[in-house]
Amino acid sequence: MPEGPEIRRMVDDIARAVAKRDARSVFFAFERLKGFEAALAGRRVTGVSARGKAVLIYFAARGDDGPWCVYSHNQLYGKWRITKAETEPKTNRQLRFAVVTDNKAARLYSASDIRLVRPNDLESIGYLNKLGPDPLNQALTCADIKARIADATFARRALGGLLLDQGFIAGIGNYLRSEILFVAGLAPKKRPADLSHAQQDQLAEAVLTLIWRAYELKGVTNTPERVAWLKQQGKRHGARRHMVFARAGQPCYECATPIERIDVASRRLYYCPVCQSV
Ligand SMILES: [Zn+2]
Repeated sequence: MPEGPEIRRMVDDIARAVAKRDARSVFFAFERLKGFEAALAGRRVTGVSARGKAVLIYFAARGDDGPWCVYSHNQLYGKWRITKAETEPKTNRQLRFAVVTDNKAARLYSASDIRLVRPNDLESIGYLNKLGPDPLNQALTCADIKARIADATFARRALGGLLLDQGFIAGIGNYLRSEILFVAGLAPKKRPADLSHAQQDQLAEAVLTLIWRAYELKGVTNTPERVAWLKQQGKRHGARRHMVFARAGQPCYECATPIERIDVASRRLYYCPVCQSV
């Protein structure tokens, strides 16, 4: 399942293809939206953005009709394809939504949660309304993330489960969860209520650092220095990518203790029992 950094890179691709361009045509598979194809065709795509795992495509106002936003959520199976406008991708998937400009087209396959809303009404969508702060798609500082960690709502939930809750902080998925806890030096069973101010700072910094690093380095969370060193040793991409995630039994890069694997919230979590003993 894609995590925040993967969604954000996908949205960058969609934006490069259709943003700030006129939509030559728009396609909707769902009957309830068919009537809007003509209403959106010819309008300028003013922007493309992500919120958590949702993709938002904005269309400019025209005449008396105000701006529109197409909201889509991929769930587990939706897939975006970007091609030249005239190229129809070969696929057995069902096309659900498409924006075609003079040069490029962005097409969404298989997704079932597609809605057309006024930009002002986005908060009425339950998924968006429940979403926590989203570091990759909003300008958030360490202080913002620290305030979230200190929010009494989350005080008594173990971080191992809490970090996957998109209502706590949006965009953290399974590999980021393990990597964030390792960098913050915190055991998965720790709760926000257990953390000192210094530990809250470490956790907030780790969230921002790793989510942005994973975005910029295409899913790599290991430090660039360590990645370079591992490359010299002939390690492949998969073996260089993470600090603890998917490294059960292998030595910790900091203390050489074997990395352990446990299941938290039904998904695998990796940690160093020595570096993350507190
Ligand atoms: Zn260690």
